[in-house]
Amino acid sequence: TLSRGGDVSVQGTNDDAQISKLSCAKLGYFKDEFIKYFVRRSSRRSPLINRGYFARVLALRGLLEQFFDVVSRLDASEGRQHVAQVLSLGAGFDTTFFNIEAEDRSRARWFEVDFKEVTQRKAAIIAANAPLHEQLGPNAKEKIHPGEGKVQTEALSVLPADLRDVDGVESALLASGFDPQLPTYVLAECVLVYMEAEESTALVRWLGKFLSTAACIVYEQIKPGDAFGRQMLTNLECRGCPLRGLQATPDLAAHQLRFLKNGWQRADAKDMSTIYRAYLDPTEKHRAERLEIFDEFEEWHMIQDHYCLVLAVNDASGVLHDFKFK
Ligand code: SAM
Repeated sequence: TLSRGGDVSVQGTNDDAQISKLSCAKLGYFKDEFIKYFVRRSSRRSPLINRGYFARVLALRGLLEQFFDVVSRLDASEGRQHVAQVLSLGAGFDTTFFNIEAEDRSRARWFEVDFKEVTQRKAAIIAANAPLHEQLGPNAKEKIHPGEGKVQTEALSVLPADLRDVDGVESALLASGFDPQLPTYVLAECVLVYMEAEESTALVRWLGKFLSTAACIVYEQIKPGDAFGRQMLTNLECRGCPLRGLQATPDLAAHQLRFLKNGWQRADAKDMSTIYRAYLDPTEKHRAERLEIFDEFEEWHMIQDHYCLVLAVNDASGVLHDFKFK
């Protein structure tokens, strides 16, 4: 896959995200022993950014754990080694796989997709660091191919593909053992918004058709129209990263509708202010809120209003009946 113009700066957003996650991990917002391997130049972020990433990571981790809880009930009856899959779209250097594996092995087979330039770097970093490749089972190093940008083990597949080419994504997944029949948790964390609206909608539609039992979680910006939203857009555009999709999914209703109109049975969307206030663990919030001096409350609420979580479900078998924001 050859990248088009502008893709390089989109790939750069990955480094930015991981620097922020490392900043949080160092300050104790959440535990992540693996993120340090993926950051070349670390930098301490502002309390405002740290708290935002804390909310993002905690909320996403909660949904993933809930999904594992739901599908683990299938464990005994099915008798398979893996009862579920995770598909991370535009995964970048996200470390959730390593953190999950370190805690509790083989709850799901894990598939990550990103541009080849990104997966090449990810594969090289995994190959170079024992704490990472040791989690991939015996002889893992033979199954890591930095040149091709591929990792191909039983537990984890890292695959190079352009999400704007759904046929390419589908064949890469099938070739690496992805099973569209298994319950699948699909994550698009700050990814779809960088694509043109038609391209991300095509991806949503293909996923809806391809996966009969799946939850799809999207985390990204909303509300480009108000003063703060315009400022947010300008900041990103100055760094060469237009949020191309934002005009088509400017609010919660548009996010919900995109799934409902494109082959998904149900969809819900909440802004991060609501998620933070009503859905995050109060003990964790209390702990995190004492880590740094914080007085930018007005800006904090504004920022959280401009990010959302979308939860969509396709559920042929009824397994995911109870999967929702909790
Ligand atoms: N999901 C990770 C996280 O939240 O830590 C990384 C997010 S980063 C902001 C966006 C990622 O999406 C980058 O790694 C970028 O390369 C990837 N991406 C954007 N458009 C893509 C496309 N068309 N095909 C493959 N990957 C894409």
